[in-house]
Amino acid sequence: VAVYDALWVNAHLATMTSQGDAYGSIRDGALATHGGLIAWVGPRAALPSQPQELARTVIDAGGRWITPGLVDPHTHAVFGGERLRDFERRIGGEAYVAATGPERGIAHTVAMTRAASDAELYASARGRLEALIASGATTVEIKSGYGLDEETEIRMLRTARRLGRDLGVTVRTTYLGAHVVPPEFLERRAEYVTFVCETMLPRLARERLADAVDVFCDSIAFAPEEARRIFSAAAALGFPVKMHADQLGDCGGAELAADCGALSADHLEYASDAGIAALAAAGTVAVVLPGAFYYLREKRAPPIATLRACGVPIALASDCNPGTSPLASLTAAMNMACVLFGLTPHEALLATTRNAARALGLGDRGELRLGLRCDLALWDVASPAELCYWLGRRLCAGVVVAGSSRAAP
Ligand SMILES: [Zn+2]
Repeated sequence: VAVYDALWVNAHLATMTSQGDAYGSIRDGALATHGGLIAWVGPRAALPSQPQELARTVIDAGGRWITPGLVDPHTHAVFGGERLRDFERRIGGEAYVAATGPERGIAHTVAMTRAASDAELYASARGRLEALIASGATTVEIKSGYGLDEETEIRMLRTARRLGRDLGVTVRTTYLGAHVVPPEFLERRAEYVTFVCETMLPRLARERLADAVDVFCDSIAFAPEEARRIFSAAAALGFPVKMHADQLGDCGGAELAADCGALSADHLEYASDAGIAALAAAGTVAVVLPGAFYYLREKRAPPIATLRACGVPIALASDCNPGTSPLASLTAAMNMACVLFGLTPHEALLATTRNAARALGLGDRGELRLGLRCDLALWDVASPAELCYWLGRRLCAGVVVAGSSRAAP
């Protein structure tokens, strides 16, 4: 009598647990699923009987490596239009903060997103999500923040939810109403913060459209005291919080994120030593975003050595967005994190599995371990480090979500 729904054999496993080598490797391993969870994992030689006697379906993984399905904990993948004009101007040497005026900056994407139909938002984001899945992702966070008015923010979050259902992966939605102050509130900032706290957050809680709340805290966005007000309102409604912190300058973002018990503080290029120490004490995950650093040709990398020294878990994300990181591949992000930030390949894989799951507050995934969700990625590589070595080459042979193989997009 078959015990398991499916069993993968002829595979090497990077379990990303703390057992064995850095990757928790099991060469010539086997992994079984039952009811969507990992029901057995270990060396093939330790299987209690023949594979065919153990599972209804036995899958020969062809000697591939299997890792936990990758987790992208920070994207802005739903938006209207693009920002080609910004891109062309910037490669001509213009600074990011100078991007204002028609067809420029976040305000342009806000206008394009408001003007886009639901079908247009869905179709363009679907292509980006398919690309992330093709790079090994089985869990993707998607933020709102390009609508800013009530109806467009709701449409963005509904689009994200629908994408998760249709593509058969986990989509976690984050409300980023505090991305920038929308044009109609430019002279009335405090009123906009009140609208976020008193109109948007209660509605999102009622309609269960957001899994977390994010604030862009920086010189061109929201001030620390505004962020604190939004986080208090979010926490009162039971939302976990996270923050775009210290990307363009040190505004005490890391300290504030830690103080508010944020799941993650993201970017952190300019975070201070005291800010990093505060993240460590609070158990807040640092999410690094090499795509934006690369596209903006920034000079200042996040303080990886200090994060390591303080023991802050480091996660990594595509930051897929039209303005500063039109990047739709987690393996490319891993390569960039190694080349630009000096992460080791092991740190980069930990940053897209265990630590990325933690950045989303998901304790049920991110490792190949008994009882966790059976979310897997299968790879055409000879070792896990090779995932970080190639740039622009498709390495993922397919993903498995809750025990079911998902056809490659
Ligand atoms: Zn972002």
